Amino acid sequence: MKLAALESVVVVGGSLAGVRAGESLRNYGYKGNLSIISGESALPYERPPLSKQVISSNWDFSRVTITNKYEDSMNFYRGIFARALDLNSRTVLLTNDRELHFDALVIACGASPRILNLPIETAGPQAIPTDMVMGQDAPPTNLFALRTFDDAIRIRESAINSSRVVIIGAGFIGLEISSSLASLGLDVTVIDPAATLLSRAIGESFSSYFETLASQKGVCLKLGRTPKSFKVTNSGKITQVLLDNDESCDADFVVYGIGVKPATEWLESSNISLHERDRGVVCDATCAVLDKNGRPLDTVVGCGDVAWFHHELFDENMRIEHFENAVSMAQAAAKRLLGLSDARIPYLDVPFFWSDLFGLKLQFVGRQYSDSKVDIVEGDLASNKFLALFHHQGVVTGALGVGRPARIVAMRNMIAQRASLDDAMGR
Ligand SMILES: Cc1cc2nc3c(=O)[nH]c(=O)nc-3n(C[C@H](O)[C@H](O)[C@H](O)COP(=O)(O)OP(=O)(O)OC[C@H]3O[C@@H](n4cnc5c(N)ncnc54)[C@H](O)[C@@H]3O)c2cc1C
Repeated sequence: MKLAALESVVVVGGSLAGVRAGESLRNYGYKGNLSIISGESALPYERPPLSKQVISSNWDFSRVTITNKYEDSMNFYRGIFARALDLNSRTVLLTNDRELHFDALVIACGASPRILNLPIETAGPQAIPTDMVMGQDAPPTNLFALRTFDDAIRIRESAINSSRVVIIGAGFIGLEISSSLASLGLDVTVIDPAATLLSRAIGESFSSYFETLASQKGVCLKLGRTPKSFKVTNSGKITQVLLDNDESCDADFVVYGIGVKPATEWLESSNISLHERDRGVVCDATCAVLDKNGRPLDTVVGCGDVAWFHHELFDENMRIEHFENAVSMAQAAAKRLLGLSDARIPYLDVPFFWSDLFGLKLQFVGRQYSDSKVDIVEGDLASNKFLALFHHQGVVTGALGVGRPARIVAMRNMIAQRASLDDAMGR
C-alpha cells in the first residue's frame, strides 16, 4: 500500500519505539489518522535514567519524558492495551472493548520483566506454606523488578530507610541498580548464576575488570550462585535470600533483573509469526512483520525491543533491547510502511548501547562472539580509559569504549564498512 492510500495507522506501544515510529510517519509525510495505543497511563518516557539518575539522583518525571513534536496530531489511548489482532478485518481489539480499524499497523509493544519464581520460607507460628510461589499468592512486599518509572520510585523509596539490598541478576540493569544504590550508601549484594561478570554481553576478557570495579564501590558479588528461596516474615517481607550453597544474604529489600520477554500475549491468536525462543515478533530485514507462513506483511511492521529481524551486515537474526535501536528501527519501520523509494533497503544500523556503571560510562557497538578475539588498542584498564576492538577472521565486529565516545562513533562506521583490524587502526 502506498503513502497516498493509507488513511489510518495504528501503533501498538506508546513508549520510545511507538512514539518515534509515529513521529517518523509524520516526518515522512503521512497525513492520515494516527492512533497510538499505550498500555501505560503516564506520558511516554525514557527508561535508561530509571536505573541510574532516578534512583541515585532523585530525578523527577519531567526529566525523563519523551518529547514528541506531533503529539497534537496523534490520538493517544493511554492506560489501554491491545487485547487481540485480527489481520483479516484489520482490527485491533482494545481492553476497553473498542475495535480500531487500521490500514497499517506498527507493533512496538516492547518487553516486560521476566518474573522471578522462588519458593518462600517463613518462620513463626502462622507460616505461609513453604510451597507458596510468587505470582500465585501475594508476592513479598519488598521485592521489585524495574521497568517503569513507578518501579524506580518504589526502589528509591525503599532505599531511604534501608541499609542492605540484594540484587538478583548481574546483567546491565541489575548492575546499574547496584551501582546507584551503592552510591547512596547501601550495602549491596549481587547474586548471579554466571561465574563471571558480563561475559555474555561483552566477553570474558573484561569480567575481572568490572568485578574489581564493583568491589571497589563496595558491591559484594556472589557469582556462580543461584538464589534458592526467600525467607519472609509473616507480614510478607523478605528478610533473607537463601542460596544454593545454603549461604544466606540479609536484605531489607530485594530487586531482580533476570531479563525480559516480548509483550506479545495479545498476538498469540493472530496470524503473526512469533519467535519460538521468546515469542518476539518476527520481522524480515526491512522491518516487515512475517505471517505464520513466513511471508512479509506489507502493512504490518515491527520495531524496538519486541522485534526480531535479520541483520544482513552480521548475517544474524537478532532482537535488540537497546535505546538507540528502538529509535532507528522505528524510523526504518515507518519508511517501510509508507513504501518510500528506499524502503526495501534492509535495516542495517550497527547495534549500540551505553551503560553507567560504578562511576564509569561504557559504550559498546557491534557484536562480540564467543570466538571473537579482543585487543585493547588505545589506553588501558588501569586508567579506566580504553578502547577495545573485537574481531573475527580479521574483520572488526565490535568495540568497547570506556571514556572514548568519539572513537566509538568512528568504530561504528568502521564496523558498518566491515573494516579489517588494520584499517580500523589506520595501519
Ligand atoms: C531500567 C532500564 C535501563 C535501561 N538503560 C539503557 C541504557 O543505558 N542504554 C540502552 O541502550 N538501553 C537501555 N535500556 C533499554 C531501552 O530503554 C529499551 O530498549 C527501550 O525502552 C525499548 O523501547 P520500546 O518502545 O521498544 O519498548 P518499551 O520501552 O518496553 O515500551 C513498550 C510500551 O508498550 C506498552 N505495551 C505493551 N504491551 C502493550 C499492548 N498490548 N497494548 C498497548 N501497549 C502495550 C508497554 O506498556 C510500554 O509502554 C534500559 C531499559 C530499562 C528498563
